[in-house]
Amino acid sequence: MVPIDLLKEQLPVHQESLLLTADVKTGLVLVDVVNGFCTVGAGNLAPRQPDKQISEMVNEVVSLARVFCEKKWPVFGFLDSHHPDIPEHPYPPHCIAGTDESKLVPALQWMENEPNVTLKCKDCIDGFLGSIEKDGSNVLSIGSKAIISKLYMCAGFFHVANTMKDVAAHPQDLMHHIGLYLAKGRGAKVVSEVSFDA
Ligand SMILES: [Zn+2]
Repeated sequence: MVPIDLLKEQLPVHQESLLLTADVKTGLVLVDVVNGFCTVGAGNLAPRQPDKQISEMVNEVVSLARVFCEKKWPVFGFLDSHHPDIPEHPYPPHCIAGTDESKLVPALQWMENEPNVTLKCKDCIDGFLGSIEKDGSNVLSIGSKAIISKLYMCAGFFHVANTMKDVAAHPQDLMHHIGLYLAKGRGAKVVSEVSFDA
């Protein structure tokens, strides 16, 4: 059995679908859907070549964000953003404040002018975990794949740094699955489909 199948069997992540209705207040949280993580060739932690998983994630974010903006529902976007003199160990320099790397991907830049959208620079990879309040409202977080992509990059470094080539053969798929599993363990509902009732 290949490692990813074994992992999915041992650590199953059941993916549900989510129906959003107008009577439950729902916000959309986007995490690091920025050039530095999602745009080919944009920086040290950006994909080196076109990546289907990342481009599908971005497309999904764009369509969800459009619906949320049409409905005037709140959208909150984190932008990874670092001071040039304060590195984020163990990652190489990335998303330096004020550069294109820490800006939303081109397909989302229209959001900067939407009144229901709040964008916040963050300088810590886990910053968002502590800053999402549980106030009873429904928070839909997407872009966790961006976090996963960081883990993937991290796995990529290990791949370069060690000789366990067979273990790291599919680091992106493996780390993506582990990321979803951990998110689920923290109480997240992992969904593969979002629909709206009106
Ligand atoms: Zn960062």
